[in-house]
Amino acid sequence: MIGTTPGKPRITVLGAGPAGIAAAYALVKNNQAQVEVLERADRVGGNSTSFRIDGIWCDYGSHRFHPVADPSVIEDVKGLLGPDLLLQPRHGRIRLGGQWIHFPLKPVDAIRRLPKRFAASLMADSLLKPLRGKSKGPRTFKTILYDGLGKTISEHFYFPYVKKLWGLEPDKLAVTLAERRVSSGSVGRILMKMLRMLPGMRGETTGRFYYPRQGFGQISQAMMQAASDHGARLELGAEILRIEREGSRVTGLVLRKGRIEARHAADQVFSTIPLTVAVRLMDPPPPPEVLAAADAIRFRGMILVYLILGTDRFTEYDAHYFPELSIPISRMSEPKNYNSATEPKGRTILCAELPCDPGEKWWSMSDEELGRHYCDWLAGVGLPVTVPVLGCQTRRLGQAYPVYDLDYQRHFETIDRWFLGLEGFLSFGRQGLFAHDNTHHAFAMAYAAVDSLTSEGRIDHDRWAAHRREFESHRVED
Ligand SMILES: Cc1cc2nc3c(=O)[nH]c(=O)nc-3n(C[C@H](O)[C@H](O)[C@H](O)COP(=O)(O)OP(=O)(O)OC[C@H]3O[C@@H](n4cnc5c(N)ncnc54)[C@H](O)[C@@H]3O)c2cc1C
Repeated sequence: MIGTTPGKPRITVLGAGPAGIAAAYALVKNNQAQVEVLERADRVGGNSTSFRIDGIWCDYGSHRFHPVADPSVIEDVKGLLGPDLLLQPRHGRIRLGGQWIHFPLKPVDAIRRLPKRFAASLMADSLLKPLRGKSKGPRTFKTILYDGLGKTISEHFYFPYVKKLWGLEPDKLAVTLAERRVSSGSVGRILMKMLRMLPGMRGETTGRFYYPRQGFGQISQAMMQAASDHGARLELGAEILRIEREGSRVTGLVLRKGRIEARHAADQVFSTIPLTVAVRLMDPPPPPEVLAAADAIRFRGMILVYLILGTDRFTEYDAHYFPELSIPISRMSEPKNYNSATEPKGRTILCAELPCDPGEKWWSMSDEELGRHYCDWLAGVGLPVTVPVLGCQTRRLGQAYPVYDLDYQRHFETIDRWFLGLEGFLSFGRQGLFAHDNTHHAFAMAYAAVDSLTSEGRIDHDRWAAHRREFESHRVED
């Protein structure tokens, strides 16, 4: 528990993912508050953490730090990691029409490899766009994609991909998903992006990404270490049991660490845990409509399957993307290719991202069974595993992606409005704002939360509202 230092507000941060850590770091760096961070897991980093399997740094699926991040965020990350932050070329492949194409797309490669019929109908979609009428009926992810990109790329790439990722048909998904996830909304923009990959047209970071030597989680680790050096307290293994309030004021928390329960008083709670969880932890409970909204909102889960192989390297690629529905994984990454690791010798790992909710058949399967399926899936796309399989491990994420179905906005707004009416409580981060955001966005949200804190330790709601409008421009990078 944090003691009281006169003049400095006590801020309790819930969750030590990137959003929680960045908030703690910004608060103590500016000597703005006394800070404690409470995290249920035994390590920091949340969904952006890293861990070692057989001596190889692994993440929860492919994680890259994108150079489009706000310059202040990049500056902090570079300052914290120094030479441990590598700038790596992106070198992936995507399977389209049964062919492997370089991803991100490169003009010469795409011309050579895209199936001719696919390329021709893509160009026809683009040329005929001015003549195409707009889709009729309610606007959904499906109509936005059809109108912007046309039939070919929608049906061969985006529609199967989102169906796999979210388990829903594209006409059951909200427009927001298209706005947040599809950065190139027309074939013309896709072509422009490809042209920027040509030598001479490229900026220093085009087609590249930042990645730490010791896994993506090294970013959170280094930032938490810096926050601790400035006086922030971190409690791992701390499960929040209740968020106590008196009327509309949040006054403290009850948490359990091991067998011990403790109450922590707080002037201000910064919550980055899933908003649905925060609703259920409120004591006394919120009004029934807020509880009902929390029940109606869904996160998509994911199983990460780590296949350990007896070879130095399986492929030269960092990631393989699988939009087609014949293979249930959405992406496969080879962690050693992210930090150019040459050690350990004679071993590599392939990490598959298998979108899946508890209750689906994959969720209860053993590691061995999933490993066997994984090898079959790879054989089916022309990547047979012919080297020894040394083992298979899995990790399960309950909250991998927010599900933007057609009703989510209404439910989210019910919770959001109620949260905004609370004093001493602010919810943000990917899970706290139900935002399909990257890590650099989580950092930006945390810095904005700290910027909205007054010297008395209250939230300036006008400033926060202005930052919330900025967050609407966040676009997800893959
Ligand atoms: C498969 C996949 C790939 C991704 N790839 C990228 C990428 O390439 N680049 C990128 O920038 N981003 C990527 N992301 C997104 C990135 O992981 C998130 O943006 C980031 O982790 C969000 O940080 P956060 O702190 O908001 O949430 P989280 O990381 O989810 O952190 C929330 C924290 O709250 C804790 N918590 C939850 N409940 C409780 C409780 N009751 N008590 C205490 N603590 C609790 C959790 O344990 C967790 O540590 C990817 C995400 C996924 C799922």
